[in-house]
Amino acid sequence: MELDRKKVVLIGAGLVGMSFAYAALNQSLCDELVLVDINQQRAEGEAMDLNHGLAFSSSHMRIQAGTYQDCSDADLAVICAGVAQKPGESRIDLLQRNVKVFQSIIGPVMASGFKGILLVATNPVDIMTQIAYTLSGLPARQVLGTGTTLDTARLRYLLGAHFQVDPRNVHAYVMGEHGDSEFVPWSQAMIATKPVLEICQQDGPWSMEPLKEIQTQVREAAQKIIQAKGATYYGIGMSLARVTRAILGHENSILTVSSLLQGAYGQKDVYAGAPCVVGGEGIRSCLELSLTSKELESMDASCSMLRETFQQLSLG
Ligand code: NAD
Repeated sequence: MELDRKKVVLIGAGLVGMSFAYAALNQSLCDELVLVDINQQRAEGEAMDLNHGLAFSSSHMRIQAGTYQDCSDADLAVICAGVAQKPGESRIDLLQRNVKVFQSIIGPVMASGFKGILLVATNPVDIMTQIAYTLSGLPARQVLGTGTTLDTARLRYLLGAHFQVDPRNVHAYVMGEHGDSEFVPWSQAMIATKPVLEICQQDGPWSMEPLKEIQTQVREAAQKIIQAKGATYYGIGMSLARVTRAILGHENSILTVSSLLQGAYGQKDVYAGAPCVVGGEGIRSCLELSLTSKELESMDASCSMLRETFQQLSLG
């Protein structure tokens, strides 16, 4: 009997990586989880800590610290490793340092014989995912980033609270960069199958104004959390777990991951957040929404910024 065992290698056992690992354990997402970090001792300590929760979980997951060689038969490698911005450092300087981090990671991952899917959370996530795609040489469908999945979850939560409905019945997306140039295509936002804009135009307690406020709250959420507690990690950990479930469960779920746009929305050669069908092969396809011309302009502005920033990088 051949067992289909699902193996995930997590690279970067920091706050984000371990929030994902904890969610993965609680959701029994895989059979084997290997933690890799430049700080080997940290990876070992985290593996011990997680293993001590196994007796109280419904999971039979095998968890251990490991090396890049563990990627040889992994289905998925999740990258949460990176360095933070130093005072006075520009975004491009930070990016250039993270290029070095990814060069030290992607090379050994590929040298192991890895044939799985790469899922990136390291910021700036769209550009880091494009770097991972370029350095790995893997097909674009096998390299994706968390994109605007977290922003989309924040949007659905806030819209659910505003309209007093379950966020699971809110179908609305944040698109473009995971960052300042992201935008909400309101023409595509629905409560069940009723357009949000139609609800707002009806007489009643709701108007259009709160939508602008909600979009601002989504865009500024990370900064607000960082000011309050230093970093954000539970939300992104849950986003990573959601994308992992879609991949390992061959779900073909629609998620706003960062994928290589190859014509959708008039965009080419750029990684950005947009609704995609995510399943066992990674990105199965991009589900192109019917955006208004104004929304297409917002997508173009966001993608142009990402493309130009990527082109300024030296990948050596
Ligand atoms: P952290 O400092 O807690 O963890 C980073 C980990 O990476 C550390 O354990 C460190 O030892 C490891 N690391 C650094 N260089 C490495 C290398 N060359 N090889 C292997 N491991 C290496 O940081 P964090 O809070 O976990 O954040 C990680 C990343 O996730 C950051 O880039 C952060 O901006 C990003 N993030 C993304 C989102 C999103 O929505 N995509 C949300 C929150 C945070």
